[in-house]
Amino acid sequence: KPKKEKKAKDEDLHELGITISREDDFSLWYSQVITKSEMIEYYDVSGCYILRPWSYGIWERVQRFLDGLFKQSGVENSYFPIFVTEKALTKEEDHLEGFAPEVAWVTKSGKTDMKEPIAIRPTSETIMYPAFAKWVQSHRDLPILLNQWTNIVRWEFKHPTPFIRTREFLWQEGHTAHATKDEATKFVYEILECYAKTYEEMYSVPVIRGIKSRGETFAGADFTSTVELFVPSNGRGIQGATSHYLGQNFSKMFDLWFENEDKKKDFAHQTSWGFTTRSIGAMIMIHGDNKGLVLPPKVAQVQVVIVPITNKDNHDEILESADKVFATLKGSGIRVKIDDRKNYKPGWKFNHWEVKGVPIRLEIGKKDIENSEVRVVRRFDGKKFQLSTEGISQSLLDELDKIQAGMYDKAVKERDDRMKNAATWDDFMSELNQRNLILTPWCDQESCEDNVKERSKEESKQAENAGEEVLTGSAKTLCKPISQPELAEGTKCFACDSNATSTALWGRSY
Ligand code: AMP
Repeated sequence: KPKKEKKAKDEDLHELGITISREDDFSLWYSQVITKSEMIEYYDVSGCYILRPWSYGIWERVQRFLDGLFKQSGVENSYFPIFVTEKALTKEEDHLEGFAPEVAWVTKSGKTDMKEPIAIRPTSETIMYPAFAKWVQSHRDLPILLNQWTNIVRWEFKHPTPFIRTREFLWQEGHTAHATKDEATKFVYEILECYAKTYEEMYSVPVIRGIKSRGETFAGADFTSTVELFVPSNGRGIQGATSHYLGQNFSKMFDLWFENEDKKKDFAHQTSWGFTTRSIGAMIMIHGDNKGLVLPPKVAQVQVVIVPITNKDNHDEILESADKVFATLKGSGIRVKIDDRKNYKPGWKFNHWEVKGVPIRLEIGKKDIENSEVRVVRRFDGKKFQLSTEGISQSLLDELDKIQAGMYDKAVKERDDRMKNAATWDDFMSELNQRNLILTPWCDQESCEDNVKERSKEESKQAENAGEEVLTGSAKTLCKPISQPELAEGTKCFACDSNATSTALWGRSY
């Protein structure tokens, strides 16, 4: 049974600002931020949420960016049905085993039981590949490079968290078929780069590129590549997006074969990859602060908000100047809003737009107009300064770029400060309890990872019982980073007696 969710209470919601700090109660802080900023509305089906324009607009911008990258790689969009028959879904055994507990089934139409229940897609390998098989005869029909932007349903039983772990979510899923293993694995990494770029350039979020351990590999894949993120204020990792090499596992099950150049029958090598609305949650957790959301300019629905500072006597005059600035900025493509509501005081408006994370606030008052200036306040670091109205659009475009880069640099620094090395179990637990990410020499054995999960859960519980303030729960590998440091001959695994074969990144994760 999922744990009860922490939701912002009605009485908290009457207060404009965020009333709880990230440090005191991270999940309550998160719940307040997403509701007070008007990103999320809660819904009465557990694990499902309403995405309001403030968050959906971010999804639209990220979607446009990522879609552009896919198209540069030759990927085309298509649409496949939401339903899958039991026969197709159960064809690939490993895949089925991985997904079976989370599949939602339609068993009735109206009051009548369906003759055969049909499943709602948890992912679309088993929906798309029977069609691929029909379209491919010869190597000349390959590669197939398709994507779709859809919703999917996974009836997760872990604690739901808006954006991060939901039962219905929005994503893109890409599916490809290639003639050779080499071409397919290259494509896996080409897509991983698209994901890294989206996090880095749109969300100002740094990533660690890696390969998943056997136990964390996608059900039915030969290997899973991943971009991993870190939330400094609670010490948790987040799996940002994954790109899988499926080998010939599905093509053999779905008869996706072709005649190769030597006129011999061969099975296609496949990839699949997905990026979801989880990314919005990761961005909120990584950049948000105790005043609320902090949005990177490239995704923000509103990049600049103008707050006229008026009184009874000069209201119209100041509004006229503010309107001029508004029109200039709008004309140069800046997403700008003017808050000219008469029934709210400037201080209230400052708070309101801070909670909503708008990157730049412009204040325009009597003095500013006299000096042909505006006052600029940056959301992410609180920096305040005057700017001339002369060339204001260009100045602000530059400023938005600086904020985008500044937010990225800050996130990199915060993450790197918390990435530690450990060669022994004791060092590992000590770093873990301090909410850090840990790089260790590792034997790469599934049974060893299972032991680490058990042991870390047990020992952190003991530490908590002894009165220490630690994050409880089990640690797991986030990935084996693609850029691997050299291991000295004879290095042992930090957790067991075997020899280490690689360096793994560990942490507690969502
Ligand atoms: P998968 O198809 O399992 O590889 O999932 C693709 C990506 O979806 C993962 O890398 C996660 O970033 C994201 N994801 C997985 N489960 C959920 C969920 N319940 N809610 C939102 N995003 C998810």
